[in-house]
Amino acid sequence: MVEHTSPQRPRSKNAKITCQQITALILDYMTRELDAETALAFKAHLRECPDCIAFIRTYQKTVQAAQSLRYESIPLEMRKQVRQFLQERIKGSPPNR
Ligand SMILES: [Zn+2]
Repeated sequence: MVEHTSPQRPRSKNAKITCQQITALILDYMTRELDAETALAFKAHLRECPDCIAFIRTYQKTVQAAQSLRYESIPLEMRKQVRQFLQERIKGSPPNR
């Protein structure tokens, strides 16, 4: 079972994606399942958003903590935890930083 329920994938060329979409797309990004257009928007966001870079580092650390696992085989439970953690970070982060 793979979660492919990201509600709002950007479709247009100039689509900007939000921090929330980053958290929704991060797993697809890591597993290279993003289409090229979305991956570009993803990277563009990262260039402007140090917060999301920090999120991704946290995510990667979590993945590295389970070194024997491939990204594809990260237990669903862990995916949920990471996603929840990131979403809480976003909600709790100051609006202007
Ligand atoms: Zn962001």
